[in-house]
Amino acid sequence: MNTDTLQKNVDTAEIAKFEKLASRWWDRNSEFKPLHDINPLRAGFIDSKVELCGSKVIDIGCGGGILSEAMARRGAHVTGIDMGEAPLAVARLHLLESGLDISYHKASAETFAAEHAGTFDVVTCLEMLEHVPDPSAVIKACATLLKPGGNLFVSTINRNPKSWLFAVVGAEYVLRMLPKGTHDYAKFIRPSELAAFARAANLEAGELTGMTYNPFTGKYSLGRDVDVNYLWHFLKP
Ligand code: SAH
Repeated sequence: MNTDTLQKNVDTAEIAKFEKLASRWWDRNSEFKPLHDINPLRAGFIDSKVELCGSKVIDIGCGGGILSEAMARRGAHVTGIDMGEAPLAVARLHLLESGLDISYHKASAETFAAEHAGTFDVVTCLEMLEHVPDPSAVIKACATLLKPGGNLFVSTINRNPKSWLFAVVGAEYVLRMLPKGTHDYAKFIRPSELAAFARAANLEAGELTGMTYNPFTGKYSLGRDVDVNYLWHFLKP
């Protein structure tokens, strides 16, 4: 595949949404509050499945580095890639504050995979797949990046009337946690679809967990309800 074909799987309008908000990435009370709130849960889930300390990890669609930093803090050697310039600039700047060592690059999963096949113990791709034209190609690239025996973690939003109500109407219009238009319902991905992408990439499915938000307590938790947000562990044989 040439670079043009690889770059086609990047929706510039989606990247622009994140470029516009990037300066507030580390503000816990900004549009990124949900990512800050779920971060300890997802980092804990990942660390319960793999030994992050000492692992070589790549965080795909890393944005301002919220998850990348949490994994580096747990001792992982982290590379973060994203197609947005502004989120990457924020991520690099934040290293001055955190004192962590993470290498950030502007690249898509597909281009990076073409150059770094089979080099990572862990690949994370969280809250990114629902912003990409062809998510199956990203999953394939994730599988390529992994060493045999490596682990992939993917999180995204399910597609059903309840997820539309919670993730679009609730989060963007009622609670105004996210700017209107952050999420496009049609791009949400059912677990059965993600399972098919993973199968096509020769990955084995591990534990699937839901991430639920309680609007009354304002708290997130992991559990069996995968109707809206979910996080899935896959393994490369
Ligand atoms: N994974 C991070 C950030 C999620 S926000 C976290 O969960 O904390 C989604 C990010 O995906 C944005 O930073 C956006 O720029 C990036 N993104 C969207 N499409 C992309 C693509 N095709 N390739 C790489 N990054 C992409």
